[in-house]
Amino acid sequence: MSNQELTQRWQGALMNNYGTPRLPLVRGEGARLWDADGNEYLDFVGGIATNALGHAHPAIVEAVSRQIGSLGHVSNLFMAEPPIALAERLLTLFGREGRVFFCNSGAEANEAAFKIGRLTGRTHVVATHGGFHGRTMGALALTGQPAKQDPFRPLPGDVTHVPYGDAQALAAAVTEETALVIIEPIQGENGVVVPPAGYLKAARAITAATGALLVLDEVQTGVGRTGTWFAYQAHEGVLPDVVTLAKQLGGGLPLGATVAFGRAADLLQPGLHGTTFGGNPVACAAGLAVLDTIENEGLLDNTKRLSERLRHGIEALDHPLIDYVRGAGLLLGIVLTGPRAPQVQQAAQEAGFLVNAPAPDVVRLMPPLNLRDDEAGALLRALPGILDAAGPVDGDGRSGE
Ligand code: PMP
Repeated sequence: MSNQELTQRWQGALMNNYGTPRLPLVRGEGARLWDADGNEYLDFVGGIATNALGHAHPAIVEAVSRQIGSLGHVSNLFMAEPPIALAERLLTLFGREGRVFFCNSGAEANEAAFKIGRLTGRTHVVATHGGFHGRTMGALALTGQPAKQDPFRPLPGDVTHVPYGDAQALAAAVTEETALVIIEPIQGENGVVVPPAGYLKAARAITAATGALLVLDEVQTGVGRTGTWFAYQAHEGVLPDVVTLAKQLGGGLPLGATVAFGRAADLLQPGLHGTTFGGNPVACAAGLAVLDTIENEGLLDNTKRLSERLRHGIEALDHPLIDYVRGAGLLLGIVLTGPRAPQVQQAAQEAGFLVNAPAPDVVRLMPPLNLRDDEAGALLRALPGILDAAGPVDGDGRSGE
């Protein structure tokens, strides 16, 4: 099997909704990946901030094998221990009493949050421009990216979008009719956009004053990605009503969670919402292994340490294509001085590094949380050559073709 063969078969069998060409990967270990031609890559995409522990981590392999070998799936007519244990564990990490609904993806976690909001008896929702919450129709209605939304209108209604990071605009949009406000602590898909200090705290105050639920979409930022268990925990005085999780939570298996606190925890009543695989014991066993391993291997500290190393190392390169680095933990955006991120992505791949370009001028890094120093160092050493290969930047800081 070669890259070319797999690409041809892919073109004949799979819908082309993700675009082409894509790299056919066949094996992974830690932060390393191999394609079908045997080329090796260092993974700074991490399954889009999903592979907290990298590829083929023994703790995940062991937990998943043990669980599938004893009890794979039972349906929600019955119960099993892994989802109970994972919910208890999550609530401990949040340090609050609450209730968890398990599903299979980030979009679904946000759908449940949307429905919980509607069960308050109010319909109006406030979300942010540039926000990304998933591709199902409800999650898409919350998303604030018209190019992704417009072909599918009408979407579920009564959603107002406001500029991200602007507390005044938020205050003006939220009324006594607002059911929920949904915000990402950092906008990942929009290019690792970090809001001004105090924004989440202001959002908490605004929602508390009007009785709206504050939903934090931590699908991309949660479960250690930003160096704390949940990104909002780095912001004093912010206690959300609902937090949505997915991606890293399953350590590579499909697993999402809607975690609700206070009155929001009791709004879903029997018969109102569900999904066949929600709380699947195998996915939840993987989730427990992720949380255990982050704790046992000190990966929050590793995340913070390597974040600093990468951030300072990249800025110290002093390359004309680099403006600055933003983000938190191992969710970093290299902001370029011109729109050459797709070219950087391509040049990086050719040099053996997988990165991603969520915006024309932003290169996103989201490696596994157990990234090693030598792996971060390898990227830092290769980056000047990768940036040079991505093309020239003219005198006024804008890149030319
Ligand atoms: N919310 C955020 C913040 C995301 O980054 C994503 C995925 N990129 C989603 C929701 C949707 O998650 P999924 O693709 O698992 O549906």
